[in-house]
Parts: sequence; structure tokens; C-alpha cells
Amino acid sequence: MASLIPASAFAGPCNLLGKSPEELRAFLESLGEPAYRGAQIYHALYAERRFDFAGMTNLPAKLRERLAREAAIELPRVIRKHCSDDGTIRYVLGFDALAEDSAAKDSQKAAPSLAPATIETVFMPEENRQTICISTQAGCAVDCHFCLTATLGLIRNLTAGEIIGQVLIALDDNRAALRPQTNVVLMGQGEPLLNFEPVVASIRILLDPNGMTVSPKHVTLSTSGIVPGIERLAREKVRPKLAISLNASSNEQRNEIMPINRKYPLEALLDACRRYPLRPWEHLTFEYVLLGEFNDSIDDARRVVKLLANLRAKVNLIPWNPGDLPYSKPDPARIEAFRKILADKDVRAFVRYSRGQDVMAACGQLVLMEIGAASNLTQISQQ
Ligand code: SAH
Ligand code: SF4
Repeated sequence: MASLIPASAFAGPCNLLGKSPEELRAFLESLGEPAYRGAQIYHALYAERRFDFAGMTNLPAKLRERLAREAAIELPRVIRKHCSDDGTIRYVLGFDALAEDSAAKDSQKAAPSLAPATIETVFMPEENRQTICISTQAGCAVDCHFCLTATLGLIRNLTAGEIIGQVLIALDDNRAALRPQTNVVLMGQGEPLLNFEPVVASIRILLDPNGMTVSPKHVTLSTSGIVPGIERLAREKVRPKLAISLNASSNEQRNEIMPINRKYPLEALLDACRRYPLRPWEHLTFEYVLLGEFNDSIDDARRVVKLLANLRAKVNLIPWNPGDLPYSKPDPARIEAFRKILADKDVRAFVRYSRGQDVMAACGQLVLMEIGAASNLTQISQQ
């Protein structure tokens, strides 16, 4: 609704979050300042995580004051924070409406939506590391029938700043207890390869030794199998690891739960996977959501072994997390029998139970569940 979009969203200072070093240098030059100041701001933003110009003490005081007037660092707004019993934190984050020129250019829709957006980011602490699960779109157009995010449809693409901002917010909010290693998974709301340019721009910042210095071994992009996107990612110099949501053992079965399979059927998808240029240390991950009595039989497991022949791959078996959808959780004995068939045929397979289920932070549960929220949720008042 146009009346809900604040006028301020279309004017005002330039948001520096999500800009590359080159873009920051160009911005500083456009202000008549030396270009290297752009590199200093980039370092302050991503390596030091300083979000106000006053704290960027590597810049002259005059420039800091000028930037405070003429630029901005727009982090996501924390609308709500749900803390799970297992330590997982689900953030509900809000983004303003987009100005026309910052809307994702390669949106699948003819006219990119500029609407305000609410998305979710999940922080999962472990002993020696934290894993941050980020969203790449608000909602999702792909329409997998077992996934609650699909029920939202696509609300809009996120910008590079909105994607990287989720990592910054999660790290900053937990700064007192950060572990040495950070993992980032692009497995929240949205299909990353249908918002390609902003996703890749944010990954470049994440993996940049002068930026956030996260190792490419610790960043995973998960896709429902958008073949042209996989081929495009294969050509990128800076790449995360790749995970493919397989979720079925035949085209017939996959068509039923993932309509995208009609456009990119298993043959085309697995062909693109075989051509994908893996680095020496790398393997592909195949995610397989186990839907009780639907795709969890011994025969399914045998077909998966055949599909993955000649691929350097591992399989994550994810027991379906319930939502208000017509599927059921798989039986534990069937999960183990499935895993064993794969393992016996030398396909590395792991059962992954999603964390944060009590706060709807688990895979496929990322939609707003604000009304009637369970009593074990910690609510942080609106900022
Ligand atoms: N859109 C991308 C990434 C986000 S979904 C993709 O589909 O790969 C991340 C993972 O969650 C996918 O592997 C998806 O199959 C899985 N998933 C979706 N709904 C789920 C549910 N209800 N229970 C368990 N996993 C689910
Ligand atoms: Fe979108 Fe992934 Fe959910 Fe499918 S599983 S609807 S691609 S978020």
C-alpha cells in the first residue's frame, strides 16, 4: 500500500551498507574527498563493525561530521527477538521500502517490488563457532509445498546491504559471547539464486580478507535447483559452498512437492552439478527433507544413491519440521534405514535435526508467527 511507505524512504542520505570498496571509493570521490577514504570506511564497517561515523576514528573529524549529514549506515531494525531453550535466537528484522534505484535489478518480476519487508535471521551458537542463517528475499516465489515460507509468496528481493546487514546485526547483538569461527548459511527466507546480484555482492563482502574475512569453507548457499543460477555461480571468482535441495528421488515425486522441477528437472539439475567446478577441498551438499511416508522409503534411498553417482557429494537428511501443511514427520526408524542405505553405498549422509523449533526458527518455518506466540518466547520491544 503506497500510503504505508514513508516519504523518507525515497530521499535522504546515501546508505553505505552493502557497497563494494569500488562503490565506496567512487562515492567519496563524488564528495570531492580522496578515494582511499572509501577503503577506510569499508574497513571500519566490515572488519571493525563500526556503524556510526563518529566511531570511525581513522577518518578526520571534519569528514566524519560531513558523512553523518550526507550518508547513512542503515542496519536492519530488530522488530522482535525470540530466544530458544537451545540457545538459538530468531530475529525478526524489518526493512523500509526501497528507493527505486536500489531495488534489485535482476528481479524475476518485470517491476521489482519496493515494499517494506520483514524477514528472519537465525543465530545458532555452538561450542567453538556460531552459525548465522540469513534470508535473501522476503518470502519466496518458488512454492515448495512442504515449506511455510512459500505460503508468503515473494514479497520482495533484499539488497546487498540488507543481506550483509543481517550478519552484522547478529554478530553485534552477540558480541559479548562470540566464538572464534563464524559460519553463514543462506538458508533463510527466499531463493538466493533468484536474487543473484545482491546475493553475490554480499558474499564478496563476507569472504573478503579486507572485509568480514569469513572463510569460503564456512559460507553455504542453498538453492532449490535454479540451473541458470548454478551455472552463473560457477563462473564467479568469489564463491561460497553450494547446497542443493534435492528432496525427492524421482522427477515424478519432485514435481509433486517442488513445481520448479518442471522447469529444471533432475537430469538438467544433476548435469549442472556435475559440471560445477569444485575446488580441491570442496564437495556439493544435497539436502533431502524427509517427509513421512512420502519420500523416505528404502527404494527412495536406493534411487538417491543412483542419482548422486559420480558426484563429490554429501547428503544432509532433514526430518521435516511441521507447519500447517499436509505432510508428516518421518518415523525415526525409517530415517535411520534411509541413512544406512546411503552410507552402505559410500554416500556420506548425516541426519540434521533443525535447531530452534520451539521458536519457529527451524528450516522451512521462517514466516511471521507473531500472533499468539508461545510463552517461552523472549520479546524485545520494538526499537
Ligand atoms: N530456498 C533455498 C534456501 C532456503 S530453504 C532452498 O530451497 O534451498 C533451506 C532448506 O530448508 C531447504 O533445503 C529446504 O528444502 C528446507 N526446508 C524447507 N521447509 C522445510 C521444513 N518444513 N522442514 C525441513 N526442511 C525444510
Ligand atoms: Fe523457497 Fe526454499 Fe522454501 Fe522452496 S524450500 S519455497 S525455494 S525457501
